Amino acid sequence: MSCCVCRLPLLPDRAESTSPLPEHFAPPGVLTKEQTRYFERGTLWGDHIHGFWVDTRYFSSNMTANRDPKNNPVGLMMFLWEQEERDKTFITMHHTCFRLLCVVIDAEGENKESLRKLVALEMVLGPPGGGIDCGRWPGVNYEESGEEVDTRTLWKLGLALGSNIFDWRGLARLGYDWVVHRPDVFPRFYTAVSPERVKHLAAGTDLRGTDVLTRMPSDVLRAIASHLVLEPAALAQLSGTCRFLRFLAVDEWQLLARDCVLALRWAIPCAAELQQNAKMLEGTANKDAQGDWMLYLSHVHRTKSMRVRRWVWALCGEVKRVADEHFKRTRIMEKGTMRWQEAEKMTAVKWVEHLWISGLQGTTLQDLRKMARQNGVKTAFA
Ligand SMILES: [Zn+2]
Repeated sequence: MSCCVCRLPLLPDRAESTSPLPEHFAPPGVLTKEQTRYFERGTLWGDHIHGFWVDTRYFSSNMTANRDPKNNPVGLMMFLWEQEERDKTFITMHHTCFRLLCVVIDAEGENKESLRKLVALEMVLGPPGGGIDCGRWPGVNYEESGEEVDTRTLWKLGLALGSNIFDWRGLARLGYDWVVHRPDVFPRFYTAVSPERVKHLAAGTDLRGTDVLTRMPSDVLRAIASHLVLEPAALAQLSGTCRFLRFLAVDEWQLLARDCVLALRWAIPCAAELQQNAKMLEGTANKDAQGDWMLYLSHVHRTKSMRVRRWVWALCGEVKRVADEHFKRTRIMEKGTMRWQEAEKMTAVKWVEHLWISGLQGTTLQDLRKMARQNGVKTAFA
C-alpha cells in the first residue's frame, strides 16, 4: 500500500498482521524503530470509507482496516485497497502527508467545512490509480515537485491485488535515502538566545565594519531585513554579512525571523499535530512563542526531517494545483452549479455518517438513514 502524496509505502502493522508478505517490510537496517512506526500509520479517506476518514492499519496484501474498532459502532471495518479491475485504489496517506495536505487546501480540523473540501477534491481528482500506478493520482507531477524525487523505478507490480513491492534499498542507490526521515520531528526551539551565541558579539565593542551597509542606522537595516521575510535564504545571507549584522539578527531581528518561519507554513507543527501529539511536541516552536527564532529558522533548513517535510509540502501544493484546475473547469466550488449540489449532498450525508461512527453529538443510525434518504445518497448503511 502506498501514499497518494509522497508515493512511499505504508508498512504492515507488526502487531496486528497475521500473515504479512515478508517483501512488504523494509529490509533490516534501512529504517529505525521510530521510522518503522511512522510508516505503519496512515489515514484512509474518501466517500467509500465509512465515516469518511479513518486512522488505518495495513495488514499487507490488499487488506486494510480501521485502527480503533472497539470505539466504533460498526466495529472492525475492513477495506480492500486496490479494486478488482486493477484500475483504482482508495485514498491512503501517511499521517503527516494527510495533515499537510489539509493545511494546504485549508481543510484543517474535524468539521463539516473541511470534509466538504475533501469531498470536492476527491470528486474532481477521482480515485488514485491501480496496477503499477497504485496510489497515484492522475495528472499530479510527483516527480517534478519540490526536490524532484522519482521513485517509479523502485515499485514492482505485485502478483496479487494491492501487493506491489517497494525496493527500500534502492532509495540509497538513487540518492534518496533522506526521504525515510520522519517529517514530524521538529528542531528544538530555544526560548532564549544562548549566551554562547552572543559571547563573541560582546556589547560595548564596535562591531560595525567600514562599508556603506554596516554604517547604516539600525532602523534602516531593520527595514531592509523586513523586506526579506519571504526570502529566508536572503535574510540568512544578510544577517551573516558581518559581526554587527549577526548581532542585530540575534537581538533585534528575532520577530522578523519568526515571521519568516510562519510564512513558510510547513516549519512549525500544524494544529492537528499539536492536538494529537501535544506531549511529544513540547519544546517545539509555536506561533506565539518568544525565543531564538533566528536559530530555529536556520535549523529548519538543515535537518533531514525538515527536508522531508518541505518536500511533502511541495507535493501537497502540486496536488492542490491539479485540483484547482479541475475546480475551475467543473465549477464545483461555485454555489448553485450541478457539481456544487452533488458535493453538498455527499457532504451532508458523509458528515452525519462521520458523527455517528465517531460517536459525536448523539448522532444515530436513524439520523444517517434520514439524511441519506433526503439527499438521495447511498451509503453502506443506508
Ligand atoms: Zn506520505
